[in-house]
Amino acid sequence: MNAGAYEAEIKDVLFDATAIDRQGKLHISKAPDLGFTYRHSNAPSDWIFTSATLQGSDDSSEAIAARMENIAIAREGSQPIRERTGGSTFKNPKGQKAWELIDRAGCRGMQRGGAQVSNTHCNFLINTGSATAADLEGLGEEVRRRVEDETGILLEWEIRRIGVLSAVGGAL
Ligand SMILES: Cc1cc2nc3c(=O)[nH]c(=O)nc-3n(C[C@H](O)[C@H](O)[C@H](O)COP(=O)(O)OP(=O)(O)OC[C@H]3O[C@@H](n4cnc5c(N)ncnc54)[C@H](O)[C@@H]3O)c2cc1C
Repeated sequence: MNAGAYEAEIKDVLFDATAIDRQGKLHISKAPDLGFTYRHSNAPSDWIFTSATLQGSDDSSEAIAARMENIAIAREGSQPIRERTGGSTFKNPKGQKAWELIDRAGCRGMQRGGAQVSNTHCNFLINTGSATAADLEGLGEEVRRRVEDETGILLEWEIRRIGVLSAVGGAL
């Protein structure tokens, strides 16, 4: 899914990756062949990745440790990392930040059953303890509706939902 954060993505460090398909055939792909875009790759969905070669950049171990520490501090201060959450809920639309649109639509802190839009970072949905999948999905769909009404932008789920869509969840 080309995970990324803080201006870097897997595609920036991946050299090559090995996958096996359902017929047992091995595929070794160089990073550019995997068609990485934002939170997406073109790898066939039946491939199972078994290894990857990553290429870092030279720096002193102190400088690398300091960068890691700074990111950990920034993340701790801006995301609800100690709560029950699935991470970023919606993809950032091109040139926009999902959390800003959600905030602008007045959804920060909004609740449905045991699900809540995080007050710390409003692109995170939190299970406050008793949330059902339907609470989380319904809340997410309500956020999408409000953001579209307010900004004209329809947010796209980053979280991949599986199973049967609940009646309250709304259209995918
Ligand atoms: C608190 C939190 C914060 C997050 N923050 C970020 C962030 O800042 N940036 C970001 O980009 N993402 C973020 N995420 C999302 C995270 O990157 C994805 O959830 C990621 O897919 C997790 O990988 P996993 O292997 O742990 O999950 P899994 O659920 O094990 O796998 C995710 C998907 O990949 C498939 N898969 C797993 N292993 C393989 C394999 N070997 N070969 C092929 N397919 C496989 C699974 O079938 C599944 O569809 C966050 C998630 C959480 C919970």
